[in-house]
Amino acid sequence: MLKQETTCVTIAKLEKFEVGNSGWYYDGCAECTKSVAVKDGKLKCYANHISSEPVPRYKLEVLGVDGKFKSRFVFWDSDCFKLIGKSALQMKNELVEAGEDNLLEFPFGLDAMLKKELAIRVVFQPKFNRLSVISFKDDEDSRKKVKDTFKSHEVCINILLANVSISLICILILI
Ligand SMILES: [Zn+2]
Repeated sequence: MLKQETTCVTIAKLEKFEVGNSGWYYDGCAECTKSVAVKDGKLKCYANHISSEPVPRYKLEVLGVDGKFKSRFVFWDSDCFKLIGKSALQMKNELVEAGEDNLLEFPFGLDAMLKKELAIRVVFQPKFNRLSVISFKDDEDSRKKVKDTFKSHEVCINILLANVSISLICILILI
C-alpha cells in the first residue's frame, strides 16, 4: 500500500462517470483554473486573481478499467475539454438555452469521453484515495508502449485503493 503521492503511468478504458454530489463542473477563476469563492465581497481564487464572474471548469471522476482492475480517475478541465470537444462553459450555455432546470445533472455530451482506452499519467493521491490525471495519450503507439512495459518489467505494482486497484507503472516519464 503506497502512503505517499506517486506519479505513475497506466492504461485504462474509461467506463462510466462516478456521479457525486458536486456535479460535473465547478466555478473556476477566469485567469487560471482554480476554484473561486467570495472573499471580502470579491470573487477570488487561491492565487487571489479576481474574477467578475466564475468560469465553469470540468472536474470529472471516471471509473477506469484495465481488464482485471478498476480505479477512480479524476480528469481536470483541459483534459476533459480535449476528450469532449467542448468547453464546460459551452456545455453549460447549451443546457441553459435548452431550459434545463438542474444544471448539476450530467449532460449527455459528456459521454463523448467514455469508452476510450487511454495511456494516462497520474498522481496517486492516498489522502483522497484516487488517481489525479496529469495527462493522457490516446494513440495506438502510446498504448502499446505502456502495455509492453507492463509485460516486460517487474516495476508494475498493484496499488490497493480501498476495494479497487489498477496496474500502474511508477516511471516518471514514459508517455
Ligand atoms: Zn486564478
